[in-house]
Parts: sequence; C-alpha cells; structure tokens
Amino acid sequence: MDFKFGDKAEKLREEVREFVKKETLHDEILVQYQEEHSDEHFKFIMEIARKLAEKKWLTLTWPREYGGLGASVEERLAFFEQVGYWAIPGVGMGVSGTGWVGPSLMLFGTKEQKEKHLPLIASGSSDGVWCTGYSEPDSGSDLASLSTMAVRDGDEYVINGQKVWTSAAHRARWCWLACRTNPGASKKHDGISLIIVDMKDPGVKVLPIYNLMGFHYFNEIFFTNVRVPVANLVGEENRGWYHIMKALAFERSVRPISATGSMQRYLDELVHYARETGQMKNAELRHFLAELASNIRAMRQCVFETIWRESAGMPTPYEYSRDKYNNDNLTELIGITGTNLIGAYSQIAPIDKDNRWTKLKGAFEGIYFSSPGMRNAAGTTLTQMNIVGQMGLGLPRSY
Ligand SMILES: Cc1cc2nc3c(=O)[nH]c(=O)nc-3n(C[C@H](O)[C@H](O)[C@H](O)COP(=O)(O)OP(=O)(O)OC[C@H]3O[C@@H](n4cnc5c(N)ncnc54)[C@H](O)[C@@H]3O)c2cc1C
Repeated sequence: MDFKFGDKAEKLREEVREFVKKETLHDEILVQYQEEHSDEHFKFIMEIARKLAEKKWLTLTWPREYGGLGASVEERLAFFEQVGYWAIPGVGMGVSGTGWVGPSLMLFGTKEQKEKHLPLIASGSSDGVWCTGYSEPDSGSDLASLSTMAVRDGDEYVINGQKVWTSAAHRARWCWLACRTNPGASKKHDGISLIIVDMKDPGVKVLPIYNLMGFHYFNEIFFTNVRVPVANLVGEENRGWYHIMKALAFERSVRPISATGSMQRYLDELVHYARETGQMKNAELRHFLAELASNIRAMRQCVFETIWRESAGMPTPYEYSRDKYNNDNLTELIGITGTNLIGAYSQIAPIDKDNRWTKLKGAFEGIYFSSPGMRNAAGTTLTQMNIVGQMGLGLPRSY
C-alpha cells in the first residue's frame, strides 16, 4: 500500500498553496466562524469562487463536459484536504450547487436543466448559489414525513409550506426543494418530489434564524402559492425520496475530506499555541492533543477508504455515515481542547476576534459553539449511528 500521492496530485497541491498565498487572506480558518456570513465577506467569498471557477477547481470532480476537470481520486483528496487546511473561501458557499445539486442534475436532471444550471454553478456566479430545502418544523430526521405541498395545476406546480434551518437561503438564487406531490401514497416515501424553485418568486419569503453565536447562517423559508413550471421537476414525480437519498450521499461525501484538512490545521494551531504559551507540560492538555492527533489520522484513513471505494464503483452503504460520525465527534473534541487550552480567555463573549484578549481570533470558541449544530447538519450524529448499525452491522431498522 502506498500512502503517498502521485506527482499530478502533488503538483495540484502545490498550485493550491500558491493560490492561497496569492488570492486569499491565508488565515480564513481562524476567522471564518466570525465573518463568513457578513455581506462584505460574502462578496469576497464569491470573488474567490469565480477565481476558482476560472481554474475549474470549483467543480474539479465534475466531468469535463460539464465544466469540471474529471479529477482522479488522488487529485480530489489532495485538493479538498488543502481546501480544508487553508479554509479556502468560495468552495463552501456554493457547496449545495457544486456538491450535490450539480452531481444530482447530471444523474437525473433534464437536458434543459443541465444546460441551464450546470454552467451557472461551475462559473462561480451568484446565480449558481443554491440552498437545500429539506427540513421542516415537524420533519427533520424523519424527513419522509415532510408536508410542504406541490399541487399540479396545468403545466405548473403550486407550492405552499415551510422549510427551516435552510443554510444560505438568504444568499441563494435557487432552492432544491423537497415537496409532497401525492399525499395519498400508501408509503409516505412514495409521494415526494424534488422541484427547483426560483428564490426571487414573490411567494418565497426568507426569514433569518440566528445561531448560538448570534450569526445569520440559516433561515426559515415560507412558500405561499409559489407557481413553478412543471419543467422544474427533477427526476420522476413521486420518486423524489430516492433522488434525495442519492443527493444526500453526495452531500455527506463532500465535507469529510476537507474536514480532515481543517482538523489538521486546528491541531497545528493548537500545538503551536501550547508551545508559545508554555503549556506543553500540562499533562491533561498533552493527552487531549495526542487524542486529537490519533483520531484525525484515523478519520483520514476512513475518509480515504470511502473515496477509494466510491471511485472503484464499490458500494458505500454506511461509510459516509461513519465518516460524518467521526467528523462530528472530532469537531466537538477540537472545540473542547481549544477552549481548554485558551482557558479563561475563551470566555470573551460574544465571540469577538478584534478584542485584545481574544486568542487565535476566537476560532476555537466558534468551533465550540458550532459543534452541537454541526452534529445535526446533513443528518444527526445519531442518525448516522443508526445507518452504520443497520447498513454496516446488519442490525434491524431503528424506526
Ligand atoms: C448548521 C446546520 C445547517 C443545516 N442546514 C440545512 C439545510 O441547508 N437544509 C435543510 O433542509 N436542513 C438543514 N439543517 C437541518 C438538519 O438537517 C436537521 O436539523 C436534522 O436533519 C435533524 O432534524 P431536526 O432538527 O428536526 O431534529 P429531530 O429529527 O427532531 O431530532 C432531535 C433529536 O432526536 C434524535 N433522533 C431523531 N430520530 C431518531 C431515531 N430514530 N433514533 C435515534 N435518535 C433519533 C436526533 O438524533 C436528535 O438528537 C441544518 C441544520 C444545522 C444544524
């Protein structure tokens, strides 16, 4: 077994480092929790997205015919690890589009949908920013119980209902919306469809939800008599559940690679800080750091295995869930370790990177406060454990 990347992937890694030095602020990893959702930072993020698009890096893994580079597994791993390590902006904001909307459209979108949306996403245009409308106030883990209705009226659907926790809805041009199209289906999973909704429709109302740190990241969306052409149906009517499962698999495959990069960066920052502040002899902190180092390495091997299996066309029924589970636990551990190391300085609230007592730009307080939410995003940690139990160990379904 060879743990080294090949020459092409190493070259790409070097090019990405050069890009970071030239185009980004170098230390986004330490400021992203504070700024990534301000208007000013959004503009900066989209500028970087366009520069990444020029190099076709925004959609590196997409086939060339759709504006990607058809990257190899190694290139994909090398690139996204760097994205995480340097927290390259632009990749995350468009992630619904590049990560799962685009790849899903390639699989089950119409020719017109592909021709219209894939170039917009791949170009880093703000018209290629999407949000994902799955969760509702009464439907989260049990997503198939969703009740937002799309009723057919001639060659249009009329949509009414509410979504919640919708990341970036206030930035998005399009919504990847899960709706109920057949309330009478004998199985609740069989009455769901996926529909593309224009966020500029006057019947779409977006309201902010502020997270634990007071930042605006996710939203509620209200749909009132929103009329959408039937041509915006993605895949087959009432087969949306099965399309969503595929889109969720794409979604869960996106973050773990860059997460291994960002975890390593956080660890490097913490070790550096511990040395600088003379805390390296504190036995408890050393143990935390050692635990982090071991777990990051273990998570990386798991993620590499998943991507390798996927690229070899082998089934990955539980691997993405295992990787998200590891990611969730490690994120929490990093938040705890970081705030322990920083000590009483970590109590400066609200998180304020410009306060003279703030250490490491408040990044670890940011992680500490975000980690409970990140456990829920893209399916909760417990849901992932249920999937590993069922699909990996052959245990019965939990519900
Ligand atoms: C940062 C963030 C970003 C998000 N972005 C989006 C987005 O862009 N679009 C979108 O649609 N949604 C988004 N979500 C919502 C997310 O998908 C849901 O929060 C998640 O699916 C859980 O649903 P819920 O919040 O309704 O919790 P519930 O499903 O009510 O779960 C509550 C608790 O019960 C547990 N639980 C539920 N069922 C079981 C079971 N069978 N076995 C064991 N335990 C169970 C859960 O693990 C959880 O701990 C986001 C959430 C966060 C935090």
